Amino acid sequence: VSRFEGVTMAPPDPILGVSEAFRADTNDLKLNLGVGAYRTEELQPYVLNVVKKAEKLMLERGENKEYLPIEGLAAFNKVTAELLFGADNSVIQEGRVATIQGLSGTGSLRLAAAFIHRYFPDAKALISSPTWGNHKNIFNDARVPWSEYRYYDPRTVGLDFDGMVADIKAAPDGSFVLLHGCAHNPTGIDPTPEQWEKIADVIQEKNHIPFFDVAYQGFASGSLDADAYSVRLFVRRGFELLVAQSYSKNLGLYAERIGAINVVCSSSDAGTRVKSQLKRLARPMYSNPPVHGARIVANVVGDPNLFNEWKQEMELMAGRIKNVRQRLYENLSEKDKSGKDWSFVLKQIGMFSYTGLHKAQSDHMTDKWHIYMTKDGRISLAGLSLSKCEYLADAIIDSFH
Ligand code: PMP
Repeated sequence: VSRFEGVTMAPPDPILGVSEAFRADTNDLKLNLGVGAYRTEELQPYVLNVVKKAEKLMLERGENKEYLPIEGLAAFNKVTAELLFGADNSVIQEGRVATIQGLSGTGSLRLAAAFIHRYFPDAKALISSPTWGNHKNIFNDARVPWSEYRYYDPRTVGLDFDGMVADIKAAPDGSFVLLHGCAHNPTGIDPTPEQWEKIADVIQEKNHIPFFDVAYQGFASGSLDADAYSVRLFVRRGFELLVAQSYSKNLGLYAERIGAINVVCSSSDAGTRVKSQLKRLARPMYSNPPVHGARIVANVVGDPNLFNEWKQEMELMAGRIKNVRQRLYENLSEKDKSGKDWSFVLKQIGMFSYTGLHKAQSDHMTDKWHIYMTKDGRISLAGLSLSKCEYLADAIIDSFH
């Protein structure tokens, strides 16, 4: 008998578990719209040309495999903060940002959560309802208490702005408000610039600390600057804030685990101290981060030619997703005779569409149509091709009725 008899079976992950089920399905029609990973029109994984070029350069230079410092690759940390805030931003000029390389978006969020737990033991995190499922796991494991603020309004398939503001207002002063920088996951619904201003007003009034999760910079709209709008607005307004970054989607570096945590402080002195404590938290967790992805990012962003080429490839990826979104909308509108308004599909931003299908309907999508998706009704348009839109539209209409 095992000493581990008391260890019970963990449930499958709600997102990654979908891919496992997909792999087990032998039907030719099967479609994996679960995990948010970019595919080509042929539904194949895509390695960006700029990544291949950067890797070639790296190989030619014969770089070694020595440990990085705890805070990661200096050249990466520099460019990642500049990409996020803008190189000419005063927070960078004044040395007020503590940036350390993280294990992609997830690891960066987790490190920040550990920091919150250690230095703000009484503070609570506020997360949107719904949100990316892993946010709850991250705060739970870091022992940061959290509660939800209203975000999605099923009646309009849009933003519940009044509910959001009311809930942020009702939270204890000094809470950490987790915000999706752009392309909210899973809804694809973002506040307007005017709404961001008002969200900043309440956060300021309540002395909360904004905590941005930026997993899609440049990947949502195709523009790095447009997708950083919300973060830069809050910085302009003088907030101290946290930002977790990920290069999984915009550079397609999913498995390289490359991202960063940035803490904007009101003085460079505070920034230095915060950085020292982030390093202290990282050391016993993973010691120091992996180098390969950091070098790729540093090479791509640091080289004007590669940087321009990256922007073009990002526009291409974002453009393909927008085309698929448009085609899906057209197919749904043409085929559905019920008079339902499908325009919400076009209003959503980023790689996901939040269909409004509930759990039983999502199960029907999988059981009858072999379409794999998360049970909250979210589909990844990045895993869809133009030629599969019609099939998907048939499945969605059938599952709604
Ligand atoms: N935050 C959000 C909102 C995400 O959608 C994702 C990726 N699905 C992440 C963070 C982190 O992903 P990764 O750890 O691969 O960077």
